Amino acid sequence: MPGSPRLIGSEIYRRSSYGGRHPLAIPRVSLMLDLVRALGWLPEAAYVEALPATPAELARFHDPAYIAAVQRAEADRRVDPPVSERHHIGRGGNPVYPEVFSRPATACGATLTAVELLLGGPDAPSVVHSPAGGTHHGRRDRAAGFCYFNDPVLGILRLLDRGVARVLYVDLDAHHGDGVEDAFLDEPRVLTISIHERGRWPHSGTIGDQGRSRRNLPVPPGFNDSELAFLIEEAVVPLAEDFAPEAAVIQTGADGLADDPMSRLALSNRALWRAVARLKTLAPRVLVLGGGGYNPWAVARCWAGIWATLSASEIPARLPDAAERLLRAVEWRHSLARNPPERWFTELADPPNEGPVRAEIRAVAAAALGGVKAAVLIPALEQRRA
Ligand SMILES: [Zn+2]
Repeated sequence: MPGSPRLIGSEIYRRSSYGGRHPLAIPRVSLMLDLVRALGWLPEAAYVEALPATPAELARFHDPAYIAAVQRAEADRRVDPPVSERHHIGRGGNPVYPEVFSRPATACGATLTAVELLLGGPDAPSVVHSPAGGTHHGRRDRAAGFCYFNDPVLGILRLLDRGVARVLYVDLDAHHGDGVEDAFLDEPRVLTISIHERGRWPHSGTIGDQGRSRRNLPVPPGFNDSELAFLIEEAVVPLAEDFAPEAAVIQTGADGLADDPMSRLALSNRALWRAVARLKTLAPRVLVLGGGGYNPWAVARCWAGIWATLSASEIPARLPDAAERLLRAVEWRHSLARNPPERWFTELADPPNEGPVRAEIRAVAAAALGGVKAAVLIPALEQRRA
């Protein structure tokens, strides 16, 4: 199927887990893949099974000593305290689990394969979806925020290495895309734009953190569908048009959804689908990644709908029986799972959450575009509320 969108996944996500009560001990990529298959949206020719990135490929960004430490952690199923301290493996939400190297290396392999597909000549797809990707907190020599390696950084570096002149990175996760931003701070060929909840870990990406290679749009709790559409149209689109990217990488963390337990943002999945539909028009080659997302029903339905958006598949008002059965079979050890709304099993689309675009959102857009008024306006707004 030359030219048509591709979806990259891996079976490793079905058989591995972060374990215990870790927020990522839930089905995400596997459930999404099952769902799009049950909906008949994934012809065999559109699907690509990812292979793990090699240590040499990971070393394009990561410290070889760190890569070796993660490999050793997988082999030994443990890490020594000094290694844990130095590389943040086995601490801070980054557990040692049986596939602690293979699984993140596969996410990186998926992203690198996606880049190769996008650059594959005249028959290349213009859009590739890799929902396992989007591990935006990974650092050169340490794990951070459940991310061991940083597949967006590796993907962007591969694009640059292959001669792509300008790469736009747009991060829609509820958390700041700090690892990607930092990796390209001094790289004029990359522009990173992150929309995330203000005041949330990792606490970077404030309204003052704007520069030639980075723009930050920290948003308040209650962030709604209309506000995301506003920021995309009034800030991201003009910035992107000015930058004229030859490729775009979009991180679609689903933890900004109202149904997600990790953030206080209030988006419906429709808002992310609309954002992706708009963002994919901004560059001739587009790589769509996953990211956070800690409610299995919300994240799988959201990412399935993103694939529908990319592959022009029609989203039914009510899910077919096979898809409903998949969703009803999910177990989630979380208080939200005690009394789940029926629509998590029977519908793909969330109820829309349109609302007013608050003054603070307008100020955030102005700041990202370079307006100086915003820096004055935000503290005033916050004082008034206090
Ligand atoms: Zn996140």
